[in-house]
Amino acid sequence: MKRTIMSMLGALAVAAGFSMFTAPAHAYTINCYPVTNSQTTYPYDGSAEKCGTSVNAAPTQKANGMAGALGSMKLDMLPAYNNLSNAHAKFRMFNNPTEYKTFFQERKVTPPSGTSSSDWEYPDVTSPDDPVGQKAWGVTYPLTPAPRWTAIFATNFAGVTLDSYANISYLTAHESGHWQDYFFKDIAGTNLSGLLSQSSLWGRLIAVDLENSMPPSVIDQFMPQCGTGGLFSGKTDFTVIPGSAAGGYYICNGTRGRGPALNNKYAGATNRVVLNLAYGDNFKLEREILSNETAFWESTTDDAPHGVMSYFDSNRFGCTKLLMQRVLQDGRLPTQSQMAAVVKPIGSGGGLAGCPVTGLPTN
Ligand SMILES: [Zn+2]
Repeated sequence: MKRTIMSMLGALAVAAGFSMFTAPAHAYTINCYPVTNSQTTYPYDGSAEKCGTSVNAAPTQKANGMAGALGSMKLDMLPAYNNLSNAHAKFRMFNNPTEYKTFFQERKVTPPSGTSSSDWEYPDVTSPDDPVGQKAWGVTYPLTPAPRWTAIFATNFAGVTLDSYANISYLTAHESGHWQDYFFKDIAGTNLSGLLSQSSLWGRLIAVDLENSMPPSVIDQFMPQCGTGGLFSGKTDFTVIPGSAAGGYYICNGTRGRGPALNNKYAGATNRVVLNLAYGDNFKLEREILSNETAFWESTTDDAPHGVMSYFDSNRFGCTKLLMQRVLQDGRLPTQSQMAAVVKPIGSGGGLAGCPVTGLPTN
């Protein structure tokens, strides 16, 4: 059967007058098309793509939003933008993870000319073994030794639309943070682990941030959990509730999660434990905190009642946020005096945050 097809292709190629080196293009089900604009600079250099069964079946509006979010980084975080631009960082917008899987799988089976199967490796976020991936709206792959691409989904595998939880600007900025984690891996000295979020500098800063912003053992000491001014007041978790466009359970009790106490699901938990229970990997993994801080500095929001951006407000995570601000906006580390001036989160009694300055330049 294979031989028959090969000889037919050969005959067609000869009949069409092609050289035998020009293989006829394989017809794929899912294809990607460049997002275009009057500009030709990144990401309008072919790096931003929209994908679907045809150009008209691709999520054009979302893809435009994705490209716009990448392009706007030029205005307020030029070093970060330049990193993406120099790498031609590929961002593809898919309707859903099923089409994403088809896109990669059919190229893995029949690689396009000049590529091999290994170029089309991908994490299968439709796998039953990956409940976290099934809820994801974005994948950047791989993280090490270097990212090759980002995929973003208009609707995740659980059937929940991106817009009901966050928005395309936030998600694009978050995924771009995973690239910056790689691009800036060596800024704090040789880092054998290959990511800034795994460096010893990051480790020192995040330890103080977590202690100041989300104390592990003290409930309500500085930050009320629920009620007026409560950290979780009106917020929902990332639990996927099938068929619910809103999705998620309120973390606090009462109408629209604005009651005085945690719901039963979270009763007795400290703020840090609630975050870890409620938001997947967003606060469990260093790389996710770094990516969320990238989205913070890109001034994106991910909307109440869902989303994680609000937890970075009010001077929380001040040490790592300063590191990311200077790195993304200036392409350099903060100075020791800048880091020493970081203050504690609002509501925590005031004073300096006590961010360690080891490893930072003096000026
Ligand atoms: Zn992430």
